[in-house]
Amino acid sequence: MSNTFDLLQPYLDKDMALGTALTLINWDMETLAPSGGMEYTAKAVGILAVESFHTLINEDVNNILTKLETEEEQAQLDEIQKAIVKKLRKDYNDLKVIPADEYKAYSELQATATNVWAEAKQNNDYNKFAPVLKRLIDFQRKFIKYRQKDESNLYDILLDDYEPGFTVEMLDRFFNQLKETIVPLVQKVSMNKEKVDNSFISKHYDIEKQKEFCNWISEYVGFDLKRGVIAESAHPFTTNLHNHDVRITNHFLENNLESAIFSVIHETGHALYEMQIDDKLTQTVLGSGTSMGAHESQSRFYENNIGKSIDFWIPIYKRLQETFSEQLQDVSLEDFIRGINKSSTSLIRTEADELTYCLHIIIRYEIEKMIFNNEIEVEDLPKVWNQKYEEYLGITPTSDTVGVLQDIHWACGNYGYFASYAVGSAVAAQIHSHIKKVMPFEQYLREGKLEPIREFLKENVHKYGKLKSTNEILKDMMGEELDAKYFTDYLVEKYTKLYELN
Ligand code: ZN
Repeated sequence: MSNTFDLLQPYLDKDMALGTALTLINWDMETLAPSGGMEYTAKAVGILAVESFHTLINEDVNNILTKLETEEEQAQLDEIQKAIVKKLRKDYNDLKVIPADEYKAYSELQATATNVWAEAKQNNDYNKFAPVLKRLIDFQRKFIKYRQKDESNLYDILLDDYEPGFTVEMLDRFFNQLKETIVPLVQKVSMNKEKVDNSFISKHYDIEKQKEFCNWISEYVGFDLKRGVIAESAHPFTTNLHNHDVRITNHFLENNLESAIFSVIHETGHALYEMQIDDKLTQTVLGSGTSMGAHESQSRFYENNIGKSIDFWIPIYKRLQETFSEQLQDVSLEDFIRGINKSSTSLIRTEADELTYCLHIIIRYEIEKMIFNNEIEVEDLPKVWNQKYEEYLGITPTSDTVGVLQDIHWACGNYGYFASYAVGSAVAAQIHSHIKKVMPFEQYLREGKLEPIREFLKENVHKYGKLKSTNEILKDMMGEELDAKYFTDYLVEKYTKLYELN
């Protein structure tokens, strides 16, 4: 045992406690808090956030870390302690190089930017948002220059924040492979779009009944209500205090059967990841999903690879049909499956289906890369955005509201984030291909046995928290790092069959 590590513990504990408080307040603000109180509560959040920042980023912690990095101290640390020291050092170095006054100015800008963005989006007024976006980007450019250690691509530094270890070089290859397969496949599907009818989805569905079914299906998939709750919010999300208190939200639309069902399955996938992290790691800086992409891989695996398959619905479709007997009595299981898998090009990323989704991501990735390579001016973003939509999806946004202004990410200062969504889909496909080889996966789904699948994910992905990177997880599981071919093969097989393209 290391006595020096004991000196670190009070700082870690305080960071954990403040993090727990902030998570709880944020959860409350998204779900139950009255809108009139936000401004006042935000003040408390601001103070706690600053306190939380300084808990681990200070000279005392730096000195303890320096000591813990010596050879003799390292020899006394266990695997988890070593990983904690490594993670803290990385965070410390990333944040320490940014001058405090610039960070403060940036945080203040960030706090107002989302309001400016929301207004600009509502009024289709890109020019109103452009100056704020330009300032946010300038700050980010400065910050990554401070963080830059060698001649690496500046955009690499941003990608690494969300997908540790991933670089422009890797992602260029990855996205090119996706583009080569998906663009022509989308064109073929578009020419055959009348082959799939999903009109039953937009019938009228009673919201109380939807809620009841969604809560049931979340538990069916594995959500443990003794360690979790389900609430409602404008946009579904997952959060957690630790692995014994994981919270998800859902939203309900009267004229849309699939939105709530697949949102809740998606969030349950995120929740299972957090619930199944090892007890030894929870409430430490390693105690959550290893990356954005790894997290999305779990939600998408449940939502798409499992939730949109016929095997999953065989034991439970009857229950859905009985819940909505009037709307679904003439919809056979096969028609239901075809309907929920229908693909059509659309302008909005969050409404995109499994096939077209990655094209939305590729567009954002390419534009972000241009921004941080200084190849584009902020004023020209709408033009380039629209050109790329025309090129990859064959549709042109009718306004900036449904074009360049649609996502909140850039207003929050999150650059390098989008790529993770596509990485998630690809990791999910890779796990899917592997899991079918090591267990009778489809048979388990047909028998309603989801536990062995959960257990597999726990043992191979979830329990490690941040102890392993996304690629380490894949390599240890199946001997290979991320490879786009699993995802492209999956899409080609699925949509060729669905649209009878041969
Ligand atoms: Zn998600």
